[in-house]
Amino acid sequence: MNENELFQAALGLLPPWQVDRCTFDKATGRLDIHLDFPRGSFFACPVCGVPCKAHDTSERTWRHLNFFQHQAFLHARTPRVECSQCGVHVVAVPWARSGSGFTLLFEALVMMMAKAMPVIAVGRIVNEHDTLIWRIVTHYVDAARAKADHSTVTQVGVDETASRRGQKYVSLFVDLDERKVLFATPGKDAATVAAFAADLQAHGGNPEAVTEVSADMSKAFSKGIAASLPNAKVTFDKFHVVRLVNDAVDEVRRLEQKTNPELAKSRYVWLKNPENLTEGQWEKFDALDIVNSHLKTARAYQIRLTFQDLFNQPADKAKAYLDKWYFWATHSRLPPIIKVAKTIRKHQDGILRWFISGINNGILEGINSLVQAAKAKARGYRSDRNLATIIYLIVGKLDLSPLPT
Ligand SMILES: [Zn+2]
Repeated sequence: MNENELFQAALGLLPPWQVDRCTFDKATGRLDIHLDFPRGSFFACPVCGVPCKAHDTSERTWRHLNFFQHQAFLHARTPRVECSQCGVHVVAVPWARSGSGFTLLFEALVMMMAKAMPVIAVGRIVNEHDTLIWRIVTHYVDAARAKADHSTVTQVGVDETASRRGQKYVSLFVDLDERKVLFATPGKDAATVAAFAADLQAHGGNPEAVTEVSADMSKAFSKGIAASLPNAKVTFDKFHVVRLVNDAVDEVRRLEQKTNPELAKSRYVWLKNPENLTEGQWEKFDALDIVNSHLKTARAYQIRLTFQDLFNQPADKAKAYLDKWYFWATHSRLPPIIKVAKTIRKHQDGILRWFISGINNGILEGINSLVQAAKAKARGYRSDRNLATIIYLIVGKLDLSPLPT
């Protein structure tokens, strides 16, 4: 086997394609593999498949996988055929998709790396500008999403994630059965739900078939769900609800801190459940002597723990339990607690719906933490569209199958 035959085998080339010659430039560390086909070869017409002779050719170059540490390139004159039925067409080459300056194997490597590291780092490793890497990633994610089938979706979770430090948001819609992101879109208003419903339809789904939705208590989502997912019953995500009560506890603490400065460093103690406290936090707890204390914060904390316990009640006792809790909370003389209790009262149907639907955004929280990790790694993702692309790649469970593996 000579070196041409060796490369031919390594590239998996099939006739009429063959390696014509290879050149290695020591100074630049660059390998150039020139491919060709014998005079008189036939190529299938890309439209009807009938074998045709090459009509003319044009010279093309593709970046390929590195040869050890050296950059490697394929060169070939790509033929056009003149089919008697279909006219003149460029023949597809088996090692690259049309329009790309990279081989399929190179793109497969890029996609594999993009799942594990920031696009900018992929660019650095393969020595290409990150906009080119984004182009590859976007192409395959878009192509895979175009084929995605959402026809069985009935239970959806919606949540938002901050897209840049602070202000901007991307809303995520998740299939709670399949545990995958169906749709990611900038914004967190009612229009994002309408956009989701349209996207669901575009993927063979039916907005009227969505019967259960888990969401936070934001008015925007509620409004959007009522308008765009008409048969959906909303379950207010219990993590969000508990977090609201937690925020109220923290507000009580901040107010009380003015007269009880020893509370200043205890913020995180009150946010936790007793079973999750660290040794050090227990010491803070002990120092505050909360069991015997008359601290308002301690009272608020007890009210929060009791609220949380709602979700441990049997379904038929839940409503009565919540009523009792509401009475206690509204008589606590702690304004932030009274306020949050009223909010909960107003949303109690959606909160109690959990006892029927059993759904929550726990899956979303899990996905969200993957998204956070992706964001932390994806420094410089340049746009919300790129962020959505990475979210689909990592938590969309897409079928990228045309890529070689
Ligand atoms: Zn043809």
